[in-house]
Amino acid sequence: MALEARTISIPRVLADAPSYRLKQAEDGLFSLTKKSWEEVGVLPKPLRDALTASVPWMSVKLFHVATSAKGDTHKAILELGDGTKIESVLMANKRGWWTICVSSQVGCAMRCTFCATGKMGLTRNLLADEIVDQYRYWASYVHARPEMPQLISNIVFMGMGEPLANYIEVRNANNTILAHTEMGPTNITVSTVGVLPRLEQLLNDPEWPPVRVAVSLHSAIAKTRKEIVPTSYDDFLPKLEEWTHKYFEKFDTRSRHLTFEYVMLGGVNDTTEHAKALAAFVQRCGKVKVNLIPYNFTDSEFLRSTDAHIRSFMDALEAGGVIVTQRKTMGDDIAAACGQLIVEKKESPTV
Ligand code: SAH
Repeated sequence: MALEARTISIPRVLADAPSYRLKQAEDGLFSLTKKSWEEVGVLPKPLRDALTASVPWMSVKLFHVATSAKGDTHKAILELGDGTKIESVLMANKRGWWTICVSSQVGCAMRCTFCATGKMGLTRNLLADEIVDQYRYWASYVHARPEMPQLISNIVFMGMGEPLANYIEVRNANNTILAHTEMGPTNITVSTVGVLPRLEQLLNDPEWPPVRVAVSLHSAIAKTRKEIVPTSYDDFLPKLEEWTHKYFEKFDTRSRHLTFEYVMLGGVNDTTEHAKALAAFVQRCGKVKVNLIPYNFTDSEFLRSTDAHIRSFMDALEAGGVIVTQRKTMGDDIAAACGQLIVEKKESPTV
């Protein structure tokens, strides 16, 4: 049986019930104290039974969870209804709460040479429910551990997959989360390799929520970008530049920051020449921030730029008038850092 999205199946099951029942049912899914339709006591028993019979309460199931030595990062391998697996990460953030890093696809088709997920290829897109349920999984995880901070304040689409290659489901998931949690759109960041047609689409899509966007640039020199991000369009850089202008024309930059992510690969994209090209590109694009990501080891041959090198690269960018930050590496001891998300085949289920 093909899976049916909850946004369709719940209204179908409740078709003959008064309309307020729909809201009660949807709110029930986000209640931290409930673990099944049976527990949504505000609904009459026949409706609870009907929902139990045809709408799965949860679309992801825990397969394995690991916690970093520092306790600031938790990585879950979650199993989906068809037996495929994804990874999802809970990370302490500097606000003192949690950021979750969600997957948008099983695997990824983009083949970025430095990324572990890129090596898996794409198995399938996630459904919006499977994205939303990563949030629900972590929300109940922290709820069950009162010693942990209780709030998930941010979501980043930086797990497995390319979110803009799964545009509709990612959009629906975001809209559901925004409708049912305290989270605001600027607390959510969708990170993309730069799927240009979809970037264009979101500019004019009234249903695309005003979440933040991060573009994985990785090089402002076309030849280098093509080498490390093989799906890069030949004219990606000028097209992205044009797009950033449209983005800033359309949106208030204070609430919808645009970021370029840049993984620091020793000797590949971290030279003075690259810093100059990046500073010049950012200047042409406008108020884009740059976030440098120290390379996390995967089984590729890249080297992590040294800390001193990252520092001087930052200095060169700052001298060129660029606002630049460096991402803190978290969870690398449990392979939960950026680009390390790949479901290990040898992993055994936890009991
Ligand atoms: N497909 C999305 C999300 C990818 S993961 C995108 O391309 O943006 C989030 C970030 O981690 C991306 O910028 C990605 O390029 C980066 N990344 C991938 N592998 C990495 C690695 N091994 N070390 C550091 N960052 C990596």
